Amino acid sequence: MTSGKSPGPALHTKILAGLLIGGVLGLLANTQLGGHHPLVDWVNRYLAYPAGQVFLRMLFMIVMPLVFASIALGVAGLGDLRKVGRVGGKAIGYFLATTFLAASTGLVFVNMAKPGAGLDPEVKAGLMEAYSGAASEKVSIAKGGGFGVDTFVNIVTRNPVKSAADGDLLGLIFFALVFGAALTLIPAGKARPMLELLEAVNAAVIAIVGMAMKLAPYGVTALIFGVTSRFGLALLAPLGGYILVVLGALLFHAAVNMSLVLRFAVGLSPAVFFDRVRSALITAFSTSSSSATLPAALSSAEQGLGVPPQVAGFVLPIGSTMCMNGTSIFEGVTVIFLCQVFGVDLTLGQMVAVVVMAVITAIGAAGVPGGSIPLMVGIMAMFGVPGEAIAIVLGVDRILDMSRTTVNVYGDISAVVFVARSEGVWKPSMVPPAEKAPA
Ligand code: ASP
Repeated sequence: MTSGKSPGPALHTKILAGLLIGGVLGLLANTQLGGHHPLVDWVNRYLAYPAGQVFLRMLFMIVMPLVFASIALGVAGLGDLRKVGRVGGKAIGYFLATTFLAASTGLVFVNMAKPGAGLDPEVKAGLMEAYSGAASEKVSIAKGGGFGVDTFVNIVTRNPVKSAADGDLLGLIFFALVFGAALTLIPAGKARPMLELLEAVNAAVIAIVGMAMKLAPYGVTALIFGVTSRFGLALLAPLGGYILVVLGALLFHAAVNMSLVLRFAVGLSPAVFFDRVRSALITAFSTSSSSATLPAALSSAEQGLGVPPQVAGFVLPIGSTMCMNGTSIFEGVTVIFLCQVFGVDLTLGQMVAVVVMAVITAIGAAGVPGGSIPLMVGIMAMFGVPGEAIAIVLGVDRILDMSRTTVNVYGDISAVVFVARSEGVWKPSMVPPAEKAPA
């Protein structure tokens, strides 16, 4: 779709073109030359990798200041703390409800298709061998960071600067919430300079998002080429049934469940929603990271859908780390798939436990590529599947990660419109016409 004023195609059209060009060139390189051909290696090392990294780093660079400024401003903008509690409560309720719906959808799909029951033992052994190194690394991460009471205590950061430096988003979010709340408690005259500073930070960061998004078409081409040229489609064959179940459940959740939610709980046409958030979805697909997609998601919500910045700036940063519909589908399906492969029979109660664990760990997973894998290894152990079995699916994780992150971001932005609508600060008629919406 072209925008009325700017010459040439709109940004999201260019990003989509980048995605297709990168994918087609990558597959051609992989099938014609092979994933390890010197030319393919050279292109990956000196062109695709640096171009992809520069784009990703431009996005990551702004995540921490963006999260801090937008949450602190969001909380301060909501004014009184009861309102913050109410908006936060609604958001978290929505995250939990949709994540639960997602995980249950995955459960139904994997039980109907039973993709693990027919996996050839030879294929299983081959995959385990090929990915055993990577798997043992994930298993050791999983052992290091279990899920328990500490998970919650650690949200209360000791040092917000360290949290920001380490990429500990929950710690930083907590500090930003407290900081924004504190700004509402001190005299308005004292708070004002800080609010102005935060507003300036926010505006500057959004300007950087604009710069990063200009690079997006090239970054996306490079990232997709990097994946497809090295992995091709060969890996997909033995795990085809499993991949189809994950992708099918993701698609069903986005196209059916979320469309119903958007239509009936928000009153917004799913087609309009999809159209306005498209560039955020493509960014999610190409980066496999909800955190890296946060800037693009914010601009889709604010400019594309017209949601007021206090609500978008408050709900989206929290959603990008807590609301992972796609991840919960992936986790539930993968754990049950591996149980099928290893002949572990789960009772109905245990299936429900898988769903509950998938929801909890999806909330705990970091919004970075592969962020959910270590947590999922933890769930596998609970149900008697050896952690090393993650090796079976690691080889195809990239494509699944790209897809589940897209659904994660779809859910995050839907949470924003849901909360904004129920707070009465936004309604579907406020969505700007397509011509005016940016990329
Ligand atoms: N890559 C996902 C995200 O950022 C997390 C995961 O499922 O690994 O949303």
